[in-house]
Amino acid sequence: MTIRVAIAGGGIAGLCLARGLLQYPQFDVQVYEQVQQHKDKGGALALHANAIGAMVILDPALKQAYFRKANSMLEDDEEEMATQVIMGEGKHTGEVIASLGRAKGRKTVARVDLIAGYQDLVPEEIVHMGKRLERIEEKEDGEVVLAFCDGSMATADCLIGADGIHSVTRQHLLGTNHPAALPVNHEKWYRVGAKLPMEVVEKTLSPEFLGFVPIICGPNGSFNMTPIRYGKVMNIGVFKKAKCDEEIGLVPSPEDFVDYHPDCAKMIELIRSAYNQDQVWAIYDHDHAPFFDKGNVVMIGDAAHATLPFIGNGAAQAIEDGAVLHALFAHVTRKSQISAAFATFDETRRPRALRVVDLSRKAGLIYLYEFDGFWKEEDGVEALKENWKKIGSFTNDVDLATQNKLAVSAFKRIISKEINGADE
Ligand SMILES: Cc1cc2nc3c(=O)[nH]c(=O)nc-3n(C[C@H](O)[C@H](O)[C@H](O)COP(=O)(O)OP(=O)(O)OC[C@H]3O[C@@H](n4cnc5c(N)ncnc54)[C@H](O)[C@@H]3O)c2cc1C
Repeated sequence: MTIRVAIAGGGIAGLCLARGLLQYPQFDVQVYEQVQQHKDKGGALALHANAIGAMVILDPALKQAYFRKANSMLEDDEEEMATQVIMGEGKHTGEVIASLGRAKGRKTVARVDLIAGYQDLVPEEIVHMGKRLERIEEKEDGEVVLAFCDGSMATADCLIGADGIHSVTRQHLLGTNHPAALPVNHEKWYRVGAKLPMEVVEKTLSPEFLGFVPIICGPNGSFNMTPIRYGKVMNIGVFKKAKCDEEIGLVPSPEDFVDYHPDCAKMIELIRSAYNQDQVWAIYDHDHAPFFDKGNVVMIGDAAHATLPFIGNGAAQAIEDGAVLHALFAHVTRKSQISAAFATFDETRRPRALRVVDLSRKAGLIYLYEFDGFWKEEDGVEALKENWKKIGSFTNDVDLATQNKLAVSAFKRIISKEINGADE
């Protein structure tokens, strides 16, 4: 029996999962993506060890595509490197307080390049571009009808909503009036950034913050730098909290950073020199969804748990989602088992993914020195580093094989009960 799987959203989560599910003969997988073509909106990612591990579980080709498209900061793929969180202001300026996402063969990549790499791994005929999902209808027999903005429709035996932070699937599952249905920006976060030629950056900044991914902290904003395009371009951003809505998007002045490491004011000058409205973003996440699935519909990735970017793990969580669904779907051979697979996915993934949402919120504030119980100056900087280790370890040191094994055992328990129950 062929089981028809519709994936809404051909981004990171959707394409990784599609590639993984293609390995199973029982599925007919179709991906519906709203854009005609993915454009470079300036997003740059560093994928941490948990993301790379999840890619390997889904299909090692995904890791190879990432490695092929990414900028390498190390000559040897076996060498390890991490994002370094550095104090940029105050008496501990220059102190590295955390290492996030330590991984072999440390890479950074423009989102658009990563998606192009993944798209090459999925047959063109199953990725339907320009199909913006507008409405979902669930039939009594479990069939799902997808209605697109162009008036066309598709039917499937299940829908996996990988349709990003503004997810239609999420609104369908939670209901449009649910308080967690839409993205939120409680703290009025925004990011002002620029993509600059690497030679300009190298001439302007000291080598201290180059050659890796630094996050430089301080009370007026935190900076990060991500080399992309095989090291030819540097993506520089400053993250700030606005005091009121009108302030969201205001480009900061170098004077705001006179108490910081001298390179920070220079980064602001660089950003101002290459100012482009497209590089100014308000930053949103989701309040917790009480569930990720209902019947034969599930949401994954940013659709389910959009997270602030501060610990660099949103895409990683999206790929982890794919890895768990991939493990579960290996055992789905009948349409009647889909809802149990989705329920098990929810049980396995929701606590971890939502914890990442919470940790990211916390991290953004810590970068602004709003420690609020996380650390006190009198405890010393070593205590701060110890606290950070727990956050870094939670995301990076996950045992994905065990996560999958537990999920599969739970799923098998449910379906064996159903089979035995049906026999009785
Ligand atoms: C500034 C910033 C930096 C970040 N850095 C990192 C990092 O270093 N590491 C990391 O792991 N994560 C990072 N993230 C998070 C990461 O970008 C996201 O978590 C990741 O892109 C989520 O993947 P996704 O596939 O779920 O969603 P998306 O990548 O948003 O993909 C969703 C897809 O669905 C499509 N879509 C949307 N609506 C519809 C619809 N109605 N119908 C059909 N298609 C639709 C969209 O066009 C898109 O292609 C960062 C985010 C930001 C904002």
